[in-house]
Amino acid sequence: MAKVLVIADIKQGVLKGSTTQLLSKAKAIGAETAVVAIGSNIVSLIPGLVNAGSDTQYIADDPGLELFSAGPYASCVVDAAKQFGANLIWFGFSESGKAVAPRVAAQLDVACATDSTDVMLQADQIEIIRPAITNKVLQRVKIHTGQLVAVVRAGAFEATEGIMGTENVVKLSPPAADLKAVIRQILSEASGEIDLADANIVVSVGRGAKDQAGIDLVKELANDLKAGFGSTRAMVDAGFIPHYKQVGQTGKIVAPTLYMAIGISGAIQHLAGMKGSKVILAVNKDPEAPIFNVADYGIVGDLFEVVPILREELKKMRS
Ligand SMILES: Cc1cc2nc3c(=O)[nH]c(=O)nc-3n(C[C@H](O)[C@H](O)[C@H](O)COP(=O)(O)OP(=O)(O)OC[C@H]3O[C@@H](n4cnc5c(N)ncnc54)[C@H](O)[C@@H]3O)c2cc1C
Repeated sequence: MAKVLVIADIKQGVLKGSTTQLLSKAKAIGAETAVVAIGSNIVSLIPGLVNAGSDTQYIADDPGLELFSAGPYASCVVDAAKQFGANLIWFGFSESGKAVAPRVAAQLDVACATDSTDVMLQADQIEIIRPAITNKVLQRVKIHTGQLVAVVRAGAFEATEGIMGTENVVKLSPPAADLKAVIRQILSEASGEIDLADANIVVSVGRGAKDQAGIDLVKELANDLKAGFGSTRAMVDAGFIPHYKQVGQTGKIVAPTLYMAIGISGAIQHLAGMKGSKVILAVNKDPEAPIFNVADYGIVGDLFEVVPILREELKKMRS
């Protein structure tokens, strides 16, 4: 039986949705599931980890693990992987996941696949699917080691409603301090905002919004929808929007239920970050804009007229 170890994605003490998605997929392929949770004061997350579908919970709870640090976090994952005898070790698509996964693979001397969109297991043969060349092709990769460390792209797997695991908590010893680099403080501009990676709806703005007033208009629509707010690189390069909100090849990859592209042309590098969204709605005044080639719903019009109408209609629907 396959044994899948999922690395719990915890941000500021909150368990993120990717953990349930990965555990749901593991259950769907009939695997035995375990989760490793790393942090400080995280014991209260155990019921959530069980409800997310894990059958064993490896808990590394130590004040020294409060702030993310790739070295010690990797040691905890390696410890859990060895104890569990995992043959698949899955990380969600986050900056921390991408930093820790290669370290774990190197320490276990096994294959590492970043950016996977599917993982298949037949008998003992592991294969993955991963997009390449800005999503133009999908590679099917056969893994020749019996174990695989994979970073799974956001939204690749769906969470199954009502899956349950069993409580079997294993406490991990805290790893030795990694003195090569010590993170003292995390400064976050983004506190209180909806994280793009978790958002069910993402509203993104492009150069069509022109300036701060246009951006604010689109941001209001995002706030009405309780959506994550994203942007194209053009608006980041122009200095209007911080890079952590950029969607695309050199930004974040998102796969929400609804992606609204407002005043965005649909350059291939932007599509690389949002093409996996379930439903795409585009507003653009140019009927030939490439974004309409991937949009499920397209509104040809001036965003300065269309966005207020959308907001008004939303208000009516709510009342
Ligand atoms: C190596 C590399 C990496 C890159 N990585 C990324 C990335 O990660 N993410 C990313 O987004 N880009 C990336 N880019 C940049 C990308 O190629 C595009 O330049 C960028 O996505 C364009 O942004 P945009 O759609 O906002 O602007 P534009 O291409 O200028 O499009 C603006 C759109 O707004 C429409 N418009 C104008 N006025 C209005 C109005 N009043 N109402 C409605 N519509 C209007 C126009 O018709 C147009 O289609 C990358 C480029 C390179 C070379």
